[in-house]
Amino acid sequence: RVAYVNGQYVPHSHAAVHVEDRGYQFSDGVYEVCEVWRGQIVDMTAHLDRLDRSLSELQIASPMSRAALVQVMKEVISLNRVKNGLIYMQVSRGVAPRDHYFPPAGTLPSVVMTAKSVPAGKMDKVAEQGVGVITVEENRWDRVDIKTVGLLPNVLAKQKAKEAGAREAWFVDKNGLITEGGSTNAWIILKNGTLVTRPATHGILKGITRAGVLKLAEMKGFSVEERGFSLEEAKSAQEAFLTSASGLVMPVVKINETILGDGRPGPIVQDLRKSFHEASELIKLE
Ligand code: PMP
Repeated sequence: RVAYVNGQYVPHSHAAVHVEDRGYQFSDGVYEVCEVWRGQIVDMTAHLDRLDRSLSELQIASPMSRAALVQVMKEVISLNRVKNGLIYMQVSRGVAPRDHYFPPAGTLPSVVMTAKSVPAGKMDKVAEQGVGVITVEENRWDRVDIKTVGLLPNVLAKQKAKEAGAREAWFVDKNGLITEGGSTNAWIILKNGTLVTRPATHGILKGITRAGVLKLAEMKGFSVEERGFSLEEAKSAQEAFLTSASGLVMPVVKINETILGDGRPGPIVQDLRKSFHEASELIKLE
């Protein structure tokens, strides 16, 4: 495998950044994960737009032109022979002697990128069964709309889920409403077929897959409500699911100890999963 590190393509096993990289010392950086599907980058423009926004919210300089970034994406995919898989890119404020203040002007942001293959159908197998979620108290900062690498609360929440035999943890805010998962957006489907997901304010990451499902739901004529929902409402929902670039539309069949419906992925979520790429922007690699 090959990774991109600050202008060079290097063996993945040797790919490293400096010990005084601000991403490493302060989580002072942002990232994106994009799906590669059948040799195409899915929703690339939306991911790069969100990267630009995250950078600008943190006043990190844009590390390179968009055209150059796209070139690097295509190169890491091709060097790693990825047909189906994921691209990871991270931009930090760069390398400077440790000091909380921003480094001197002219400090170059660090850019790293990797790509890996995910066997086609791997996530489909998970989706066939559906997954469980647990709920945890929302304990993240109030700007989780910025996609920073500061993911410690997410790491702890997801590990707790894993230890409980679940796949995801849903954060519950102080008003008793679910915000999102540790690495996914959260959705429920009411008994009347209405899809419900929290509005994209500063309290959640505005998922690209979430946007795709909103578009798809509209194409299919489903009704959608963008509003908060409680754990109680979720437990009495007909279906539920998670969205993310890495898992796409992932059915939820269990919330804490409550089994949803008959404990199997329902028809609406299966339909959305099957037709998800119909509502995506697909960028050919050649
Ligand atoms: N919320 C959080 C906290 C995430 O980390 C992610 C995935 N990066 C998402 C939602 C889903 O976003 P996307 O659909 O853009 O992958």
